Amino acid sequence: MKLDVVRGGGMSSNSFILSDENEGKLFIVDLGLTGKLTRFALKKSLKKIVDEKYEDYELEVFLTHSHLDHIWGDNNLKDFQKITFSASELAANHINARDEITLLSKYRAKISFTVDKIYADEDVIKFADSELKVIYSPGHTDGSAVLYETNSKSLFAGDVVFAGGACGRVDFPTGDRWEMIATLDKLSRLDINHLYSGHGPDVHQNVKENILNAKNMMEYW
Ligand SMILES: [Zn+2]
Repeated sequence: MKLDVVRGGGMSSNSFILSDENEGKLFIVDLGLTGKLTRFALKKSLKKIVDEKYEDYELEVFLTHSHLDHIWGDNNLKDFQKITFSASELAANHINARDEITLLSKYRAKISFTVDKIYADEDVIKFADSELKVIYSPGHTDGSAVLYETNSKSLFAGDVVFAGGACGRVDFPTGDRWEMIATLDKLSRLDINHLYSGHGPDVHQNVKENILNAKNMMEYW
């Protein structure tokens, strides 16, 4: 699995680009904010990876949840023709309705896609030599989902858990502290070597402790 990280600045989420250059496929986890606010960092990374041969590539964009700082960056993808957007069922519903859970209207933000591929809990996405397991992970939002890549034991965690033993906020609409605790408990049972969170740095050591610290914090909070 080849992984490129587009580090989000400010409020923007990180984006993660998995590449399968033999098959001409890219799999992107989260889009960050609109390119205008991120100086099109995602667009620039993609341009480099595909060497401007946009028409040769097929894209899947998986959105870990419906918040605008993860979904607003679709204007980075305009050069591609073949794009599929995917998410959990509840995240897809929020995004397709542009409802208040997305926070889009609060920032007068507009997106121009619909999510038409829905994954159920425990579905497995095959990509190149990787298998990505979809794990429904409510707590930050009701539709939050993470991806667990089984070969490298990597977790793409969205806003569920971050470096430094922190977890995502539970005070946004559909956030739920007890669901967050249950989610962190579930994720702490996975064998994880690499944690790629929606914001901040990646973690390559003691990921389990990091997740358990987040769970403990939430239990005392
Ligand atoms: Zn969020």
